[in-house]
Parts: sequence; structure tokens; C-alpha cells
Amino acid sequence: MTAKIISGSEVAKEIREELKQEVADLKERHNLVPGLVTILVGEDPASVSYVTAKQRTSHELGFYSKQDNQPADMAEDELLKLIDQYNSDPKIHGILVQLPLPKHIDEGKILYAIDPRKDVDGFHPVNVGKLMIGEPNYLPCTPAGIQQLLIRSGTKIEGADVVVVGRSNIVGKPIANILLQKREGANATVTVCHTRTREMASYTKRADILIVAAGKPKAITADMVREGAVVIDVGVNRIGKTPEGKAILCGDVDFEGVKEKASAITPVPGGVGPMTITMLMMNTVKAAKLAAGIA
Ligand code: NAP
Repeated sequence: MTAKIISGSEVAKEIREELKQEVADLKERHNLVPGLVTILVGEDPASVSYVTAKQRTSHELGFYSKQDNQPADMAEDELLKLIDQYNSDPKIHGILVQLPLPKHIDEGKILYAIDPRKDVDGFHPVNVGKLMIGEPNYLPCTPAGIQQLLIRSGTKIEGADVVVVGRSNIVGKPIANILLQKREGANATVTVCHTRTREMASYTKRADILIVAAGKPKAITADMVREGAVVIDVGVNRIGKTPEGKAILCGDVDFEGVKEKASAITPVPGGVGPMTITMLMMNTVKAAKLAAGIA
């Protein structure tokens, strides 16, 4: 069996078209323009490129978007004050503080200072807790993107045996929680594996849907995958450079081997990656609608 490729680039494009239409409707019918601010402290090159991509996408969709660049030596108190300003700015519905922050700033303190109603990254404990009790508000972006990939590729989630490799707060735990929800697009039986799991292959081989977020290049090989499984590879590993100096990326799954056994698989790059920013945009539209009492 050669797997169908689930293209995150294509699914993300489809969702962005829908969002663009929705943003135009909100403007026309409710005079509402979703507003997103991205705060960047310092000039870390990877962070600059992530923030630029977020800004570009929000412009394309017709948002009111603001890029707030601050110096790397900004004091924690100053950043807290800035967040407070955006918390009370009615034009801003979503606040994104680009991580990582410089070492002298406590990331937890900053993320907790964001009004949970504007926490479009879905990392505030209020939003994490709401997901946990089955009343999700903003889903964290990467796991939300994974769920959309499964739904939009026609994968049967209800009743499926899902195995998640990885238990981080940004991918593993939230995707396990999302697919466990008692609602449409979920209702799966979920198992979570990590570095202390004994005989991990005995779990991964049972999975109808295998989601891998370990950050270990090609950790999952064909012999660990059930024939016909749907495999979502979240990992992004830099394993070298091309002669032109471009990073060579690979996922956590041995794509070449596993694609001969799985029924569907996401590539790296072009799989989960493109979904993350798109889900940030989706959360921002939701935040604007909630603020206006439309959602
Ligand atoms: P993380 O915080 O490093 O967590 C990795 C998790 O995987 C940990 O729970 C760890 O277990 C587990 N793990 C590591 N090696 C393992 C192994 N050999 N067997 C079983 N479990 C193992 O990483 P993360 O932030 O979740 O990210 C995971 C990967 O996804 C990274 O490659 C990252 O770059 C990528 N990522 C991609 C996107 C995107 O948009 N595409 C977004 C976020 C992350 P322990 O808890 O026991 O240590």
C-alpha cells in the first residue's frame, strides 16, 4: 500500500480562503475587523521570520494587524504594561507574544498576563483548563491544525485508536485532550507515549491514527506502524544544509518506509507546519466574534 499524502499546505490554503470570506462578511455585515498584535522582543532570526509570516497572513486575510517590536533588553515590567494596554485595546482581539523570550523575562508570567479572551495561542491556563473540562475556547494552534487535517482528509476519528508519541504542553497533551473530547471530530480512544513508555512499538502498532511529536528524526519506522494507519508527523528536525545553505528538514517518522504501510501520511515540510499559523488566524476571527457577541 502506498499512502495518500495529506497536504497541510493545501488544507491550510482551503481554510484561509474560508477565513478571508468570513472576514469580508464580518466587515460588511457587522463593521467588525479582527485585530491581531504580534509582540516580538529582540531580533532572534527564527522569531523574526515566524512573526513576519503571521503578519503577512493576517494582512492577506484582511485583519487589522500590528507588529510591535521591542528591544531585547526590555524590562519584564515594561512588557507586562504593554500587554495590559493591548488587553484593553478594543481594536485588538488577539495578542501573540512570540516565544522564546529573552532569559531575563519569565515566560509564564507574560503568558498569564494576556487576557484569556485574547489568548489566541491557547496557552493561558484558563484556556488549557477549559479544554480539559470539555468546554474548549481557543485550541492551541498546532494541535488544532492536526485535528483539522484529520477531519478534512476524511479520517474516521470517532472510536479510533489514537496513539500520540510525545507529551509536551504545546503538542502531545493538548492533541490527546482534543481527540478525547465528547464531540464531533473527536471521541477517539487515546494513548500517550513518552520516553518512559515500555515497548512503545506495542502501542504504536495498534494505532488507527498515529500522531508523532517527539522531536527525534525518523524515530518511527515502518515496523512500528500498523498496515493502513493514518500517520501525522509533527516533528521538524534540521538534519543538515544543502550546498546553497538551506536547512534540510525531516520529521519524526521515516517517511519513505512508513508511506508504504500507512493509508495516509503527512509530509515534512508541508504537513502540520502550514496549519499552525492558519489556526492562529482562525482563533483570532473567533476572538473578534466573541468580543462582538456574534459567536
Ligand atoms: P518537546 O517539548 O521536546 O517534547 C517531546 C516529547 O516527546 C516529550 O514528551 C518526550 O518525552 C517525547 N519523546 C522524545 N523522544 C521520544 C522517544 N524516542 N520515544 C517516545 N517519546 C519521546 O517537543 P514539542 O515541542 O512537543 O515538539 C515536538 C516536535 O514537533 C519537534 O520536532 C518540534 O519542532 C515539532 N513542532 C512542530 C510544530 C509545527 O508547527 N509543525 C509545532 C510545534 C512543534 P518525555 O516527556 O518523557 O521527555
